[in-house]
Amino acid sequence: MSLEIIKNAIANKKMICPKCDKPIQKFDKFAETIDAVRDGFNVLEIDSHASRVTLTCGNGDCDFHERTEYWNNYIAD
Ligand SMILES: [Zn+2]
Repeated sequence: MSLEIIKNAIANKKMICPKCDKPIQKFDKFAETIDAVRDGFNVLEIDSHASRVTLTCGNGDCDFHERTEYWNNYIAD
C-alpha cells in the first residue's frame, strides 16, 4: 500500500525536502490509481503504487510544496 509507505517515511523522517534537506512534515493525498480485477463475484483491488500526494515541507520558512506521484524520489534509504 503506497500510502502506508508515504506515512511511514514521514513518521520516520525519511521523506526529505529537496530544498532544505530536512524531513518533510506533512502530506495530503489527492489521488490514487487503483487497478481493479474482477474475478467472478470477487473484486480484487490491486494497488498500482501510483498514489499522488501533495508534500508540504513545513520546516521554518521553507516554502517547498509539491504535488507529485514521484514522492519515492524524496525518500532517503
Ligand atoms: Zn524544506
